[in-house]
Amino acid sequence: MNSDHLSKRLQTVVRFIPMGSRLADIGSDHAYLPCYAVKKGIATFAIAGEVAEGPYRSALKQVQIEGLTKSISVRKGDGLEVVEPGEVDCVTIAGMGGTLIANILERGKEKLSDVKRLILQPNIGAISIRKWFLENGWMLISEEILEEDGKIYEVLAAEKGDPYTGYNGKLESGLLLGPLLQKKQNEIFKKKWTFEKANWKRILHQLEQAGDKPENRQKKEELLHKISLVEEALRQK
Ligand code: SAM
Repeated sequence: MNSDHLSKRLQTVVRFIPMGSRLADIGSDHAYLPCYAVKKGIATFAIAGEVAEGPYRSALKQVQIEGLTKSISVRKGDGLEVVEPGEVDCVTIAGMGGTLIANILERGKEKLSDVKRLILQPNIGAISIRKWFLENGWMLISEEILEEDGKIYEVLAAEKGDPYTGYNGKLESGLLLGPLLQKKQNEIFKKKWTFEKANWKRILHQLEQAGDKPENRQKKEELLHKISLVEEALRQK
């Protein structure tokens, strides 16, 4: 992968960036995504934010090599602290856990007042992001699920609006599986949740083998509940 040929995962993120955006890519590593978006004319300006020294240096070097220093500002800092209010209208955060992404959004809320679209790609735990959307008035406009190199990724795009849109009253399974993904149920979705369900059943079996310990009871109930949510969702298609 490089800034001319993005991975399928990052290409999916880029697909949701509106043409002419002013973009902040948080956790940018090599800055491949902002370089690509600027070169393709999708973003007119971009900030590549990085908290770690090594990736920050890689991003700086990449932007210099590509001759993009006029349109891409590489900044070192934690989450959205690298962005000034009103500076960007689109934010991408990719390749981290959902809890960390939701935490970055929560701590940087005041920087989002002029942001029109969030595009987030959690490696795991998309549920944390959907919960954050609900609590903060962001509406899912699209969800994608894709497989690359044997891993399954979700991409969530949201804009400000009624955060309950799309759930059709099925809040609990929607938060876990994705309300829009659940509606579509493509083969990758079915594969992911069939696998997760089998994994939970295996853990449940292990807990049952360990005898009826009070400390395991809650864990078992949670697993049973999640298994039934997924079974119910998969049956509906
Ligand atoms: N976004 C790129 C991608 O999807 O290919 C890079 C993903 S990389 C696995 C995650 C990057 O996020 C790392 O470079 C890490 O240093 C950075 N990161 C983690 N927490 C961060 C934070 N709070 N603020 C900014 N960057 C962060």
